[in-house]
Amino acid sequence: MNYSSTFIPTLREVPADAVIASHRLMFRSGMIRKLANGLFAYLPLGLRSFRKVEQIVREEMDAIGALEMKPTVVLPGEIWKESGRWDAMGEGMLRAKNRLDNDFVISPTAEEAFTAIVRDELSSYRQLPLTLYQINTKFRDEIRPRYGVMRGREFVMKDAYSWHGNDESLDETYQAMGRAYRRIFKRCGLTVIPVKADSGAMGGSGSEEFMVESDIGDNTLILCANGDYAANVEKAGCAPDYEVQPSPESAVIPPIEKIDTPDVKTIDELCAFLKTKPQTFIKTLIYRAANVELDLSAAPCAQGEPGCKNLERKKGDTAVYPEVFCAVALRGDLDVNEAKLAALLKAGEVSLAADADVIRLTNAPVGFAGPVGLNSLPVIVDHSVTAMNDAVTGALAKDLHYRHVAYGRDFSGWMTGDIRTVKAGDRCPLCGGGLYEKKGNELGHIFKLGYKYTRSMKVSYLDENGKSQMPTMGCYGIGLDRALASVIEEHHDEAGIVWPASVAPYHVIIVPIKYDGAVKAACDRLAADFEKAGIEVLLDDRDERPGVKFNDADLTGIPWRVVVGDKGLAQSPAQVEIKRRGEQETRMVELDKAAQELELKVKEALAELDGEL
Ligand code: ATP
Ligand code: MG
Repeated sequence: MNYSSTFIPTLREVPADAVIASHRLMFRSGMIRKLANGLFAYLPLGLRSFRKVEQIVREEMDAIGALEMKPTVVLPGEIWKESGRWDAMGEGMLRAKNRLDNDFVISPTAEEAFTAIVRDELSSYRQLPLTLYQINTKFRDEIRPRYGVMRGREFVMKDAYSWHGNDESLDETYQAMGRAYRRIFKRCGLTVIPVKADSGAMGGSGSEEFMVESDIGDNTLILCANGDYAANVEKAGCAPDYEVQPSPESAVIPPIEKIDTPDVKTIDELCAFLKTKPQTFIKTLIYRAANVELDLSAAPCAQGEPGCKNLERKKGDTAVYPEVFCAVALRGDLDVNEAKLAALLKAGEVSLAADADVIRLTNAPVGFAGPVGLNSLPVIVDHSVTAMNDAVTGALAKDLHYRHVAYGRDFSGWMTGDIRTVKAGDRCPLCGGGLYEKKGNELGHIFKLGYKYTRSMKVSYLDENGKSQMPTMGCYGIGLDRALASVIEEHHDEAGIVWPASVAPYHVIIVPIKYDGAVKAACDRLAADFEKAGIEVLLDDRDERPGVKFNDADLTGIPWRVVVGDKGLAQSPAQVEIKRRGEQETRMVELDKAAQELELKVKEALAELDGEL
């Protein structure tokens, strides 16, 4: 392809909102242009790289037996109402009505669409397991689209969905997807950190995210210095820590005692008042949990018995409580991890209770909740509290606290669990090593969904015994635009992009010093030879100064540059100069051998990226 016949509008300037390297470089190299906030057009150069990422993803999906199909991007609203996500998706989901006043959704994801199709076709266990995927447009009305295609409103996702007759089969596909994802990212030249992720009510090892390290990452990763543990902070656990040593068993803890704490509400005020540290407090927060699946029928409840009013029995005998309040007790210096709390309670959602609810449920002003004598609510106790035996807590009355509170002696929880937010310095739950934090960006996500959609959308099949069964499900997504931008984040320098061969828009750029006469003839022949050898080549035939062409070659990041000039051609045999993008060294090679040599180099580079994990 000749440069003058393509459309690669490179720029020296960067738009003011382009604050990260990939955004700047995709603009400057003429890969993308902005149509509106969060809406980007791929120009021909950008699309070439995009298609390569797409092809790698497709090959790896096909290799594990996933089957590609193509549903529509505009989806009927009915299926979202069936699954319950018409309401749950909120404003991030773009909706539209047609002339008949029917509801539609612009696909932000596609669990419903795939499940609706499979539901109509699935009849026998012989059809399982089944994995389907698409590589297709998604739209999410992100509150803050930013960083170019990293977080756009419209983007392309590879989303796969699988259906299974049992958990073992789901796990097999889940593991195969995990391996395929590792291969995809390696082939793209990306260094990813797979982390354990929150899997909501599913629990266990049902979810993994593939992260790239990034200063602008929206996710906090918790990693063990010994390399054996990596988790999203939403999921991360830690070894119980006994920073506050319980008094030795032999020591006599004084009996619990009520103390006056006038005008003291916050933990900081209390610390100042009692001249002590937050680590000696038990903080008690009142939470509201929605759609709780945990069997709470034995729990104390302020709203009526058993457990909670509005108890609803659904198919499969799962009790779903639309709204439950509970108290959460944890050490004063720690924070509640709401994702972990929701997972422990098997709740759809948890949030701090409103002040009015706190007052009603604790029978005290806000700021004086405590677990001792709190009989109206189930108390969820974090592990950190189970090690405390001489603590201070609120006393369920204005300006009153307890001191010398011992867990087990003065109160116990309705349930104990790990619900704190883990932070740097905590200890690894596997080996006790030091944990540290990194910021990360999510490129992909694999997830065991269980029966969430097959239950709500009533999918069934007949098993070996002719009995009707519900299949279990998995879903697996990769953002292609974000993956492409992340490749640039990982592979660039001051001059521009430094593409890995696998996703480079072209393998080779030929730069004639001046495109006429013998140089032109040599360049044309070389380009033809490259094309014959299967090497993708761009010939910079523009009437520009060599400096301009070199800058653009660096900016667009094409892996090999071949410079053809009169001087080299005058030698015997004729020579051209070869340079690998990202390296300083240039080398002269024979014109006649250049195509053969670069064919080898391109193949080597691709093989290296494609090699063993
Ligand atoms: P995030 O937390 O970054 O918003 P998500 O958890 O909403 O992502 P998923 O629903 O798991 O994302 O979607 C799968 C993949 O789609 C993500 O891993 C990411 O690569 C990509 N993706 C999601 N939202 C966007 C977006 N606004 N722009 C570009 N890619 C996106
Ligand atoms: Mg996700």
